[in-house]
Amino acid sequence: MSFVYLGYFFILGLILGSFYNVVGLRVPKQELLAENRSYCPKCRHSLAWYELIPVFSYLFQRGRCRHCRRLISPIYPVTELGTGLLFAFSYWKVGLQPELLVALMLVSLLVIIWVSDIRYMEIPDRVLLFFLPLLIVGRIISPLDPWWSSLFGAAIGFFLLAVIILASRGGMGGGDMKLFGVLGLVLGWKKVLLAFFLSTVYGAVVTLVLLAFKLIERKNPVPFGPFIVLGSITVYFYGDKLFNWYFTSFF
Ligand SMILES: [Zn+2]
Repeated sequence: MSFVYLGYFFILGLILGSFYNVVGLRVPKQELLAENRSYCPKCRHSLAWYELIPVFSYLFQRGRCRHCRRLISPIYPVTELGTGLLFAFSYWKVGLQPELLVALMLVSLLVIIWVSDIRYMEIPDRVLLFFLPLLIVGRIISPLDPWWSSLFGAAIGFFLLAVIILASRGGMGGGDMKLFGVLGLVLGWKKVLLAFFLSTVYGAVVTLVLLAFKLIERKNPVPFGPFIVLGSITVYFYGDKLFNWYFTSFF
């Protein structure tokens, strides 16, 4: 592991994270990515380059727009920093292997979904369709062992969610189902099941905490996407450890 590469992937993640914020906010609204410059969502003032430096601009402006003085959502810097850390972490865990491409694409997809689902409660099809062929190529270059675990995983992820959607009527939607199909391709059939399980655990714990502190009310829907993001990142990096721990502890 080299610290130069670690720093490189961190900065790459910060910059791309800033772009993924824009993608996650604009794609569900059918806005073009190239058309407009970045602007303040509150006063629509175009932002200069020094207002677009990941994390730092937010800190220097103390979380407020320089023009209208209104608060900027902390989701932006959190997303930028999170992407930087996850890129560096991917390199640290995977190394300069073909699998690193899969890891970085998975992180990128999940970051965009995180933004869209928090903001609009929507997992955009266009984002999934953009990443699907890239991840298929990634899994051809860096196949799972056995390779068919990807195919089986995609099918299980998709149909598991289909059954749950039919059985529960609400809560989860078609976006979650397609996302789990894509996740199955990347994670394989065992880990996609674990990712689903962990997502629901995270979702339940966080929802209970938010309810307990009266930060949300019972009737407020909580987007499930962010928990899928956390669950699948945990499983991608620690799935094997979790399985080992489970089977050595309980069997
Ligand atoms: Zn503003």
